[in-house]
Amino acid sequence: MAEEIMIADIRQKSRFRFAPSPNGALHLGHALSALLNHDMAAAEQGDFLLRIEDIDINRCTPELERAILDDLHWLGLGWDGPVRRQSEHLAHYRAALDRLIAEDLAYPAFLTRGDVKAQVAAAEQVGAAWPRDPDGAPHYPGEDRGLDANVRGRRIAAGDRHAWRLDMQAALARIKQPLAWTESGEAERGEIEADPSAWGDIVLWRADAPSSYHLSVVLDDALQGITHVVRGLDLYHATSVHRLLQVLLGLPAPLYHHHRLVLADDGRKLSKSNGDAGLAALRDTGASPLDIRRLVGL
Ligand code: GLU
Repeated sequence: MAEEIMIADIRQKSRFRFAPSPNGALHLGHALSALLNHDMAAAEQGDFLLRIEDIDINRCTPELERAILDDLHWLGLGWDGPVRRQSEHLAHYRAALDRLIAEDLAYPAFLTRGDVKAQVAAAEQVGAAWPRDPDGAPHYPGEDRGLDANVRGRRIAAGDRHAWRLDMQAALARIKQPLAWTESGEAERGEIEADPSAWGDIVLWRADAPSSYHLSVVLDDALQGITHVVRGLDLYHATSVHRLLQVLLGLPAPLYHHHRLVLADDGRKLSKSNGDAGLAALRDTGASPLDIRRLVGL
């Protein structure tokens, strides 16, 4: 009995996470995300976890990770449990990829970025509309999807460089229930219908950096028992892909809250190179953690 109650309590405890990528310094947009996650977790007496999304080994560095931890400490934020570093869990992501491959839902994609660009340019030059994903990137061409299994096997054995992509149509055909998520953020609220097909055949595993953001983020959210995903509106549409992967891999669906973005003075999205909105730069000019809260409108 006591054990049952304990399990129920654990399940009910809210868990939030801040999940920065150490490929640049934290800016005001990250501060808003981190503070919101922290405050929402505190309001629910839940946990606030920190995950370092460092699978892009070409761009993430230990120095940038250290700077992120310093910035968070300076902001006055602590977190529950150890930091989870994605680079330390590649075998876990690979196992999920292997499962999708075994279920004929993923295929090796041999075209380089340059190949895709050339195909898209050629099509658009003759007036054909090439489908693009919600971030504006062209969908991956169809030819590798239909490649004969023997040819695939031979090319892989020969060491042909390839990524792994989700066969979106095959994946959607497996989904038996309406795909939706519960949103409490600042754009739309309520049950939001997911539209993963808008993304085309997304990358699951890269040729140049292992795993992909989409695959690892859904696995980690499940593994860490995340109940609430609070992140910027720039990831709103990606949630469609995350819901699809969660259903395909049998993972639970957290609640989602996509918050407004902090914009630069010129109205554009802040980028990693936005020096003057960087937390370290603001700290150096004498700003206090309370000033940061005010600056991001909390
Ligand atoms: N690592 C992502 C970023 O820094 C955030 C991922 C997420 O919150 O789902 O933009």
